[in-house]
Amino acid sequence: MSTSQDPAVTRRYRRTLSPLAIGPVTVHNRVVRTGHGTGFGGGTMSPALIDYHVARARGGVGLTILEAMAVGSSVYPFLVAGAPGLVDGYRTLMERVRPFDMKVFQQLGHLGNEIPEADGSPPWSASDSVGALVGVQAQPMTHAQIDRLVEAYAMAHGYLLQQFLSPLFNHRDDDYGGEFENRLRLPIRVLEAVRAAVAPRLAVGVRLSPELLPGGLTATDVASIAEVLCRRGLVDYVNLTLGTDYNFHQIIAAMHEPTGYELPYAEPVRKVVDVPLLVTGRFRTLDDVEQVLAAGRADLVAMTRAHIAEPAIVEKTLAGRAEDVRPCIGCNHGCIGGLMTVGRVGCTVNVAVGQEATLSEDLVTPSAAPKRVLVVGGGPAGLEAARLAALRGHRVVLAEASA
Ligand code: SF4
Repeated sequence: MSTSQDPAVTRRYRRTLSPLAIGPVTVHNRVVRTGHGTGFGGGTMSPALIDYHVARARGGVGLTILEAMAVGSSVYPFLVAGAPGLVDGYRTLMERVRPFDMKVFQQLGHLGNEIPEADGSPPWSASDSVGALVGVQAQPMTHAQIDRLVEAYAMAHGYLLQQFLSPLFNHRDDDYGGEFENRLRLPIRVLEAVRAAVAPRLAVGVRLSPELLPGGLTATDVASIAEVLCRRGLVDYVNLTLGTDYNFHQIIAAMHEPTGYELPYAEPVRKVVDVPLLVTGRFRTLDDVEQVLAAGRADLVAMTRAHIAEPAIVEKTLAGRAEDVRPCIGCNHGCIGGLMTVGRVGCTVNVAVGQEATLSEDLVTPSAAPKRVLVVGGGPAGLEAARLAALRGHRVVLAEASA
C-alpha cells in the first residue's frame, strides 16, 4: 500500500492509523472487513475468493475476517472444513496478502436452526424453533451432539451458539437451558476448546448480537455475556453486530439507517469489556472511523460493504484522493441481493467484485496514445466508458442530455 506522506492526512487519521494489539496479533490500522459470505468459493478458498481479498489487502485495510467456516455437519454455503483445495488456498491467500500486512482471521460458524444437516435431517438448535430462512422445525440437540460440536463456532446473528444464549430460542430444561449461567455453558465450552487448540499463537474473538426481538437478547444481556467471557480470559476481542435472520434488515441495514446505527447498542458492552471492541454499522469513510475512535466508542471499526464497493478506500483516502473513492450507497442490491438470489455477492457500483482477475481497476493500463474521446450519453454504460477511458489517460468529454 502506498500511504500518503502528507503530515496533515496522517494527523487527521492518527487514531485510525494507530496499531492495535488483538491478543497476540497486531493490526496496523483500525479498519476491518468483517466476515461476510460471498459465494465466490464454492466451499473452498477458490482463486476468485483469493483475488477478491487480495484486491482489498492491496487497498490498505488492517484486518479481514474471512467468511464463516462451517463447523460440524451442517450444510453451509460458504467455507467448508475439509473442502478440496482449502489448505492450499489458504497458503496462497496468505502469501499474496503478506506484502500488504493485512491480518486475516477466520470466522467459525454453525447456523443452527437456519440450515439443515448435511444428511437432510432437520437443523440443530437449542430447542425446536423454526428457522427464519428455511422454515423447518429444528431438532433440540442431544448431549452427544453438543459434545461433538464443542470444537469451534461463531456466535452472532442468531446462529447456533446464540440460539443457546437466547432466552427466546433456548427452552431447554437441562444444564444448557434456563438460567443465564446455563445458557452460557455451551459457548464457554466452545471457547475453552478453541483457546486450548490455538493458544498462544492466534487471537480468539466472539461475535455477538443484541437480537431486537421480544423476549430475545438485549444489549444489556449481550454486555453481561461479553463481561463473563472477558473475565474468564476467553476472548481477545468482541465483534458486535445487530439482529438475527428474523429481522435481517438490522444485521446489514440499508440506506434507511444512518451511519453508526448500531453504536447505541454497543454502549453497555463498551463499559464492561477490557478487550478491543469491534463495531459495525454502515461506516463508509475514514472520517467515520476516526470519529468513532475519537469518541472512545470502539477500538476497531468495520467497513465491510464500503470495501466491497471500493477495495482501495484506505489507500485512496490517505493519498488525498477521497473524491475518487467509489462510495457504498447502502442499497444492498448487489451484495446481499446478489447472495440471496444468484448465490454470489456483487455490487451496484463496482462490477469487478468477484471478477477481480479480469475486471479489477488495478489492471487498467495507461494508453500509449491518449486521444480525445467523446462519450454520448451519461447513463451507467456511458459513465463507465468515460471513467475507464479517463483512467487510461484519454481526454474525455461526456455529453448527457439531461441535467
Ligand atoms: Fe454497497 Fe455495493 Fe452493497 Fe450497494 S451493492 S450496499 S453499493 S456494497
